[in-house]
Amino acid sequence: MKERIKQILSRQPGDEVISVEGWVRTKRDSKNVCFLEINDGSTVKGLQAVVDKASFGNENLLGEVTTGAAVRCTGRLVASQGQAQSVELALETLEIVGTCPSDYPLQKKRHTIEFLREIAYLRPRTNLIGAVMRVRSTLAYAIHTFFQERGFVYVNTPLITTSDCEGAGETFQVTTLDLANVPVGKDGVDYSKDFFGKKASLTVSGQLEGESYALALKDIYTFGPTFRAENSNTTRHLAEFWMVEPEMAFCDIELDEEVAESFLKYIFRYVLDKCPEEMAFFDSFVLKGNIDTLRHVIDTPFARMTYTDAIKELEKVNDQFDFPVHWGSDIQTEHEKYLTEVVCKRPVIVTDYPKEIKAFYMKMNEDGRTVRGMDVLVPRLGEIIGGSEREADYDRLLGRIVELGLNPDDYRWYLETRRFGSVPHAGFGLGFERAVQYVTGVANIRDVIPFPRYVKSADF
Ligand code: ATP
Ligand code: MN
Repeated sequence: MKERIKQILSRQPGDEVISVEGWVRTKRDSKNVCFLEINDGSTVKGLQAVVDKASFGNENLLGEVTTGAAVRCTGRLVASQGQAQSVELALETLEIVGTCPSDYPLQKKRHTIEFLREIAYLRPRTNLIGAVMRVRSTLAYAIHTFFQERGFVYVNTPLITTSDCEGAGETFQVTTLDLANVPVGKDGVDYSKDFFGKKASLTVSGQLEGESYALALKDIYTFGPTFRAENSNTTRHLAEFWMVEPEMAFCDIELDEEVAESFLKYIFRYVLDKCPEEMAFFDSFVLKGNIDTLRHVIDTPFARMTYTDAIKELEKVNDQFDFPVHWGSDIQTEHEKYLTEVVCKRPVIVTDYPKEIKAFYMKMNEDGRTVRGMDVLVPRLGEIIGGSEREADYDRLLGRIVELGLNPDDYRWYLETRRFGSVPHAGFGLGFERAVQYVTGVANIRDVIPFPRYVKSADF
């Protein structure tokens, strides 16, 4: 493996000739010397290469080196005269691997994040998106490490499903039917002619399939793409996002909450430890105080609050909200933020929601009105995790399905898992991009995934 700039920057000056490959971020020319900042995507800070024009000689070649060009150079590491870095490359040879013309969009150092979104195929070449994507990668690794260290089995649930069980969101349909010539039967579209012989869609959650694996392997997690036809233009919803869904057998809601809390703390700490340079960069240029906030989250026990108590708190200040609440209403972003930022001043786990506003599979409490669901709310973002203890009793689960007017035939396989050695089990879903948003401080979810998909946007 070739050495990356990140490793080179941690070296001491030396006499050995080293080779560096990367892209020119900036070029500063003066009479006798030329400074090239070379970045290979391994760090926020690039390596400064210094060309002594007199000894280098080849003015023409140097003239062709422009911002964005790919270069390979050799030289010796010397102590830097400048303040910004400890070592720099005293350049000896230079090769242009790929030239870059002057219409390269990333000429200046700072661009608006909205502009960068329009050139999503080039934006990883910026400091910001480069750092976000390195942190995203590290966070994914932290998630796998957390679960693997605890013996959870990584399960890949299907992306195409014919049981849109959850009602978790609007689905995208998957079909090979000719949309200009749809086969019609007496009840509308004749899906028996479609690829799967019935109506199919992209998954909105791997939970139901995950449950059947937890009921065999005990502790499992999924980590994969999820699709919701969210027709809303918010800063925290995508049409295609990645979700992490652990599911644990012989587990109740209290243990589920504990796992969710220690999981978030673990992955936040992991990134603070492994990506100090990126985290310092976000703290300076994206969100001041972000590191302190994360440390506070890691060090403080999360608050716990029932939905009923949460509503009492919210009702006191109902005049502040666009959507005033009462017992039974959905808790929306503005309410989530108030609860975690103002009432609790730390992350809070809200539990025991009215059954009417939660999914059919959540286990009912004794009161017959509320279910064992829990949402983890964090300051600035609101909901980051949603989870529950699942209804493990066959008759009660069937009862809920019928009560909600769903067709039991669609849930046959899921119901069957409650007949054969059913046990209490629970799990949750973490939106991976929301986690990346939270650790980086980036305001819009569209900037923490390489190629965001949202309403009217899937161009590249
Ligand atoms: P919200 O109320 O924020 O729309 P939800 O209650 O619909 O979320 P769940 O079904 O509980 O979401 O999904 C579990 C987690 O997946 C959420 O806590 C969130 O972190 C994430 N998530 C849900 N929808 C999206 C989306 N459209 N884009 C990105 N992440 C999402
Ligand atoms: Mn939720």
